[in-house]
Amino acid sequence: MGSIGAGLQEVKGRIARACAAAGRSAQSVTLLAVGKTFGADALRAAAAAGQRDFGENYVQEALPKIAALAGLRADLRWHLIGPLQSNKTRAVAEAFDWVHSVDRLKIAQRLAEQRPPGLAPLQLCLQVNVSGEASKSGVAPADLPALARAVAALPPGRVRLRGLMGIPEPAGDYEAQRAPHRALRELLAALNAEGLALDTLSMGMSADLEAAVAEGATIVRVGSAIFGARPAAHFYG
Ligand SMILES: *Cc1c(COP(=O)(O)O)cnc(C)c1O
Repeated sequence: MGSIGAGLQEVKGRIARACAAAGRSAQSVTLLAVGKTFGADALRAAAAAGQRDFGENYVQEALPKIAALAGLRADLRWHLIGPLQSNKTRAVAEAFDWVHSVDRLKIAQRLAEQRPPGLAPLQLCLQVNVSGEASKSGVAPADLPALARAVAALPPGRVRLRGLMGIPEPAGDYEAQRAPHRALRELLAALNAEGLALDTLSMGMSADLEAAVAEGATIVRVGSAIFGARPAAHFYG
């Protein structure tokens, strides 16, 4: 097995152990392989090892990789997890299956308008600023309910609101890692209690996936633990 296959096995083992500790089934967590800075060959190796869900941060970087793997298999799913500007929504609506980083209504409206009718609805998560630093993108928790209602009310068929994404500030200690994931879970529960049927919590990365699984993550986004370390200048957390 190549090192990417070995990395995938290792991460799947971590997810399975975290699920067992939380009394959850290992199938309840989807592993998203985050390929930023890594080329199409690395993604191909992951796909050959059975990986199906791929996360990318940058539209410009992702499109050639999506094209390069298009002939490989039809059942790969592409997730945008980085900031999305209005002028890139059309390309995203045409090429991706999921967008985790929606943080304003205008972006969701454009994605709904631009999603080609022949494709399955684009699956959306709202990115929430769970750590509260000014530097991070994401909707403030106080503004989340109104945004969620508005996105959920977009005409069905083109987009479907699935849940929330969080990118907390890195924390070394397990309990400190759990706190922002718990906050995101509670925000999702509050939306569900309002009648929005949301089932997705996109949270947890290489360093904190166990804490995220303990708090109910349904998608963990893992890059370096699968593909290896990125150059420091390319760390975008
Ligand atoms: C880079 C990135 C990840 C993966 O980070 P690792 O620490 O390499 O696992 C997950 N989510 C987002 C939004 C990222 O930018």
